[in-house]
Amino acid sequence: MRTPIIAGNWKLNKNRAEAQVLAQAIVAETQSVKDVEVVLCPVYTALETVATVIRNSNIKLGAQDMFWEASGAFTGEVSSDLLKDVGCQYVIIGHSERRQYFFETNETVNKKVKAALTAGLTPIVCVGETLPEREAGQVEAVVGNHVKNGLAGLSSEEIRKIVVAYEPVWAIGTGKTATPEQAQDVHQYIRKLLLELAGEEVGNSVRIQYGGSVKPDNVKELMAKPDIDGALVGGASLKPDSFVSLVKFNS
Ligand code: PEP
Repeated sequence: MRTPIIAGNWKLNKNRAEAQVLAQAIVAETQSVKDVEVVLCPVYTALETVATVIRNSNIKLGAQDMFWEASGAFTGEVSSDLLKDVGCQYVIIGHSERRQYFFETNETVNKKVKAALTAGLTPIVCVGETLPEREAGQVEAVVGNHVKNGLAGLSSEEIRKIVVAYEPVWAIGTGKTATPEQAQDVHQYIRKLLLELAGEEVGNSVRIQYGGSVKPDNVKELMAKPDIDGALVGGASLKPDSFVSLVKFNS
């Protein structure tokens, strides 16, 4: 019912030439994949390069962040319209690295989500707890705040258009994956919140990705869980072989 979505977050890696080579390899190896949505999120400076490589493929382009204002005196920022202009259909919002190093809050996430939707971009809204928060039994409180405040003021029809990524911070780039059961528990909780916020039909239609050290050897069991609809992938998206086997988790 929900098309799986596998997105590669290349973070601050790959110049244009490297991005071109990586994207070309992914395009070549995923041509036969029709039942999974694939998104590549390179650095801003490589967006156009990757857009050119993926033009005649099923792969979609995403950015790693954006600002909520459309234009003006905001040195260093990039707007939703500029991302659309370069070919983006997706944008990651509120990644834990943005929250940790660049002081993103649920309020800034909310502004960005609204601006992305207004521009017709699909926001991939990242939520997730830190290890101390998990150990203190606060997973639902933290994730609940991220979801409710990040999506505050959105209509059901707007919620229909988003993707949520559950990324426990302790699993990102650490090699420690949440067990499929740990992930499913939180995904189920997020699903419950989405059902409350947007009603049954929409709540059941929103895709929830898992992110945090997803690799070829753990993707299948994660994807087998009923509320895990895809993966947001950092490290394993930087090599064609590992990313392609994630995209082909089903075969
Ligand atoms: C991420 O950056 O969103 C991520 C999940 O990274 P990694 O796959 O490297 O843990």
